[in-house]
Amino acid sequence: MTRDRVADCPFCRIVAGEIPSTKVHEDDAVLAIRDIAPRAPTHILLMSKDHIASAADLTVEDGELLGRIFASAAGIARAEGIADRGYRVVANVGAWGGQTVDHLHFHLMGGRAFNWPPG
Ligand code: 5GP
Ligand code: ZN
Repeated sequence: MTRDRVADCPFCRIVAGEIPSTKVHEDDAVLAIRDIAPRAPTHILLMSKDHIASAADLTVEDGELLGRIFASAAGIARAEGIADRGYRVVANVGAWGGQTVDHLHFHLMGGRAFNWPPG
């Protein structure tokens, strides 16, 4: 499956700088931005720079990418001051999972307590 940029994908456009975003971390494989409609005091999206449609498309070859995403999330959580009390990292997959943008991303959310299971 190709992982080339998709012209009408909003997150590919954010990665390319065509849609403005508030960046909190960027390296050659990962971009982290503030969610445009935050559902928690801290709500950050960590996305792959390559277009991967969802977490369901990840393979064992993506282990390094995932390690970088989660290490970045932990560092951002510390920088945002949410690490001590705890936070949530979540990927929504597909329609029933609540995924609305078909480009791999993880929500880093904190600054309040969350319910389990999520609604
Ligand atoms: P999903 O519903 O796919 O799990 O998460 C998509 C997230 O992307 C939502 O929380 C939504 O608010 C956020 N989002 C959608 N479009 C944009 C955008 O253009 N900029 C930013 N910063 N966030 C966006
Ligand atoms: Zn994309």
